[in-house]
Amino acid sequence: MSDDVDPFPAGGPATVDLTAPASALVIVAHPDDAEFQTGATLAKWARAGAVLHHLVLTDGSKGTWDPDEDPAELVAARHAEQRAAAATLGAGGPVFLDLVDGELDVTTEIRAEVAEVIRRLRPQVVIGHDPWKRYRLHPDHQAAGRLCVEGIVAARDPGFHRDQLDRGLSPHRPDALLLFEPDVANHAESVDEECHLIRLRALECFASQIATTHLYKVDSEPPGADPLDEWRRRERERLEVAGSWAGTGLAEPFRLIVDQL
Ligand SMILES: [Zn+2]
Repeated sequence: MSDDVDPFPAGGPATVDLTAPASALVIVAHPDDAEFQTGATLAKWARAGAVLHHLVLTDGSKGTWDPDEDPAELVAARHAEQRAAAATLGAGGPVFLDLVDGELDVTTEIRAEVAEVIRRLRPQVVIGHDPWKRYRLHPDHQAAGRLCVEGIVAARDPGFHRDQLDRGLSPHRPDALLLFEPDVANHAESVDEECHLIRLRALECFASQIATTHLYKVDSEPPGADPLDEWRRRERERLEVAGSWAGTGLAEPFRLIVDQL
């Protein structure tokens, strides 16, 4: 039995497909979170001409099961992997805050850094973790979700972090916030086969994570078969499940928030 609470309410999503934005910023805890949760949508928007950026909050230094692995080497590898994955999706260079993986706290200081990136890049759409997702164990995902939603509030209101205004950054209010891995989805982005394949290629850039993340709980069936093929099949199935809820073939599910922006 899955630990997931079914995120798909009966009747399908309230909305399907935003107009492709001119720009979007995806705010994630770790390298590879964006590609897993919203990679196909980012590929679709890049193809439509959107300017895309990643803000990666932690350094990914705990992304290994090998206690002897050198953390500095792992961080360098994960930076390179994230850059390659972003380029594969058609996104610009990622911004790395390099906070310690697994120890992400929701503080005013970090929230100010998130707001500063939003005020500098001025994205039309912001995408992040749903901080209200139930029964998720990893502390960074909840913290990254809170930093994203609170960072948006701080970026849009001029009373927050006035030093940034003094340095020439003006407040910025995005048009839409999309929360991925939603506790309760209300929106879907439909994607086609090409976007699905670009997402897989981007995910396969994370060579250091293939064993621990991609192939975790993927058995080689039949024996001797390439487990990556089984993983690719399962990843397509995830898009099929959301697509069947949305009535669109393949899709990625989100919680769309516009009213409070
Ligand atoms: Zn993560």
